[in-house]
This record gives sequence, structure tokens and C-alpha cells, in this order.
Amino acid sequence: MNISVVIPLFNEEESLGELFEWIKRVMDKHQYSYEVIFVNDGSTDHSWDKVLELKQSNPEVKGIKFRRNYGKSAALFCGFEKAQGDVVITMDADLQDSPDEIPELYRMITEDKYDLVSGYKKKRYDPLSKTLPTKLFNATARKVSGIKNLHDFNCGLKAYRKDVVKNIEVYGEMHRYIPYLAKNAGFDKIGEKVVQHQARKFGHTKFGGLNRFVNGYLDLMSLWFISNFGRKPMHVFGFLGSLMFFIGFIAIIIVGAGKLYALSKGVTARLVTDSPYFYISLTMMLLGTQLFLAGFIGELISRNANSRNSYQIEEEL
Ligand code: UDP
Ligand code: MG
Repeated sequence: MNISVVIPLFNEEESLGELFEWIKRVMDKHQYSYEVIFVNDGSTDHSWDKVLELKQSNPEVKGIKFRRNYGKSAALFCGFEKAQGDVVITMDADLQDSPDEIPELYRMITEDKYDLVSGYKKKRYDPLSKTLPTKLFNATARKVSGIKNLHDFNCGLKAYRKDVVKNIEVYGEMHRYIPYLAKNAGFDKIGEKVVQHQARKFGHTKFGGLNRFVNGYLDLMSLWFISNFGRKPMHVFGFLGSLMFFIGFIAIIIVGAGKLYALSKGVTARLVTDSPYFYISLTMMLLGTQLFLAGFIGELISRNANSRNSYQIEEEL
């Protein structure tokens, strides 16, 4: 099979028919063998009935129905598990992504040998309250992930070599950072294609508000931490702990030396609790010990993690 299209959807009943017809037109024109996997993420409208209806007359339609809403990442994860095509394309269900991009994306994966090609909605039809924070978000994600050539991490329209989706685990709300997950798994030929973006035709966005950015940044930090120190937490906590402890140690030397000096001169020495260095020392040594303990606990946890020895093996003979 050439192509699997994975479509996460949450209350998108109005769009599904039109979207599928459009995909079908493009696929038939280029004579690809394909499947379209609709992942119904706990919709409360008639989206699933619509999928069942499409399935009746089209064997290419496949579906997964969640009992409740788990989020876009979960939907993508399950869609990826099911996908059989050589190239896997993800697309939002709201008709904001154009199926006309599929042939070029397919070509970039199969001929230009990209592992992952991300859509880039250069011209967006979203309100400013959405586009502006997105710019900031992408700049940070570029910096932290080290994937310098991506402008639009969160674009729903992406194409992957099959190996990529079978070897990454999209969890939590990590769908925003799939290129970063792919890179961490060793798939580093990551490209970008400028794609058409339409205004939402039906329904409304499911990711609104400030929440999205706060969580987005926290997720990015987690991912950064996990990819750099997930298997060796002591290296970060131990370093910070030692640094703190060292500062505290210097401070206590200053306090002690000052006291001894004053005593040897016979002048009435100041109480150590009157010195700011005393408090610096106290705080730093406490913090240092805490960080060290966090490091040890982190090591204990990572030793017991199921994934402690799971490595990406590309080929085995
Ligand atoms: N979606 C989903 N589960 C959710 C939220 C969204 O499967 O909990 C789907 C949604 O139906 C759509 C895609 O994810 O197909 C992108 O969502 P949306 O268009 O609301 O996001 P935006 O384009 O506004 O960023
Ligand atoms: Mg959308």
C-alpha cells in the first residue's frame, strides 16, 4: 500500500464527507493504493455515523472509535499503530488542510528520501490571537529541539516514512512536537513544504485559550529534559547539587574565617547569624542536598523504567 491517511477527529461531522471525497479524488487521479484511517476521539456528535456511512461504499475507509475524548496525540498514536502504507500522512479533519498537497508530500518522502515532511502554513487564516503566539512557540521549539529548518511544528498536515510512525510514541500532548520525537529517535532528515491553509469551514477550534501555550511550553521542557537527561538524571541534578553545595561551602568558610580572625585579634566578634554569608551557606547547602537526592531518586526510577534498555534499532540481520 502506498499511502495511509490518518485523520484525528473530534466533533467534525460536517466536514468528513467532503474531506473524504476530496482525498478520494486526489488518490484516484494519481492511482495510489491507500487507506484513510479516521480516529474518532470521543466525538459527541454524529461523526462516527458519518464514518460508518463512508465505510459502506468505500473499502479504503478504516476507523477507530475511542469511548471518550483522549486528545489528538492519543488519536494519532492509535492511527499510527494501524497504518499500513509506506507513507503515512496526517491531516486535520476540519478541511483546513488541503488533500491536494498529498502527491507532492508523497514524492518528497519516496524520491527525496525525507523521513518526515512537515506542512508550513505560511499564510494562515486564523485570528491574530492564534498566529502571534504560534510564531513565538515555533521560535522556541526550533531553538530547544535543534531542528532549525521548521517554521510550523504544530501543522496537522505532515508526511512520514512508515518507519518513523512505528518507532515513535506520541503521548500526552506531544503531537505538537512530533518532529522532535522523530529526531530523538534518530530520524533526522526532516523537511518542510509550504502548504495551503483554509479558514475553518464548519465548527470551531478545539485548541483555544492560554492553556495551550502554558502546557505547550511545559511539554517542550519535559521533552528537552527527557531527551537530554532521561537516562542519566544524576548528571543534571548532581551537577546543580554540587554547585550549590560548593557555593554554600565557600560561604561557610568566609563566616568561619571571619570569626576566627576576629577572635585572634581579640575584638568582639559579630554573631554568625548577623552575617549574610551564614544564610547563603544555609540555603545553598540545603538546596544542594535536595538536588542530590532528586538525582538519586531519578536514577532509581530510570533504572526501573521499562524503556531503560529500549533503543532504536534500524536494521537487524
Ligand atoms: N482533535 C482531536 N481531539 C481533540 C481535539 C482535536 O482529535 O481532543 C482533532 C480535531 O478534530 C481536528 C484536529 O485535531 O481534526 C485539529 O484540531 P483543530 O482544528 O481544532 O485545531 P486548530 O486547527 O485550531 O489548531
Ligand atoms: Mg483546525
